[in-house]
Amino acid sequence: MSKSQNSVGRRGFLKTAATGAAGIVAGAKPGLAQSRQDPDQTVPSDLTLRVKALESLLVDKGLVDRVALDRIVDAFETKIGPRNGARVVARAWVDAAYKKRLLADASTAMEELGFHRHQGEDIVALENTAKIHNLVVCTLCSCYPWPLLGLPPVWYKSAPYRSRAVIDPRGVLKEFGVDVGADVEVRVWDSTSEVRYIVLPERPAGSERLGEDALAALVTRDSMIGTARVTLGAAERPA
Ligand code: FE
Repeated sequence: MSKSQNSVGRRGFLKTAATGAAGIVAGAKPGLAQSRQDPDQTVPSDLTLRVKALESLLVDKGLVDRVALDRIVDAFETKIGPRNGARVVARAWVDAAYKKRLLADASTAMEELGFHRHQGEDIVALENTAKIHNLVVCTLCSCYPWPLLGLPPVWYKSAPYRSRAVIDPRGVLKEFGVDVGADVEVRVWDSTSEVRYIVLPERPAGSERLGEDALAALVTRDSMIGTARVTLGAAERPA
């Protein structure tokens, strides 16, 4: 199925679901709705219905183009996500010159790999070493390097993480399973709408024989926020 057919499918689903929901809300044949287990008849969430209503209104008024909206949704569903950041990290691990460019100017270096900024924000790469551990937070809201990491996880936007990452970063890291030694400096970076950060995690010991693609597969979203280390899976460990 092509991507455009996917989009049509999603719209068709929303339309059907919205019609079904309206019927249920109006009290039409509730018994019938309850007795059928057809997943297409599942009532979407209130949020989904609100989004659909807003989209329909904007399209009807000619304020947004439906094709453009589909392209944006498709980008976030299939093209933007932590795999982009993982490719940047893996390249930096295997190519010292690229790593130097990344640490000097991450916004330009990520464009070398085809990843572009969306809103003019600057992206800064922070290198984790044996002596420095970087942790990223947005204390104000949820600023995050979307082109490289996709949408932020729920915990990143939560009030406890936003406050405690600053007050007690070592405690937060411990809860994420990352024990940072007393001899390691923890640096906490507060993202803003203008400057967003990606952590360049330490390359795991024993990964010397792995190629760039295999290395990228090891890199997790959390390791690029600073709340995890990159580790070798059982399959990648040297015999
Ligand atoms: Fe923010």
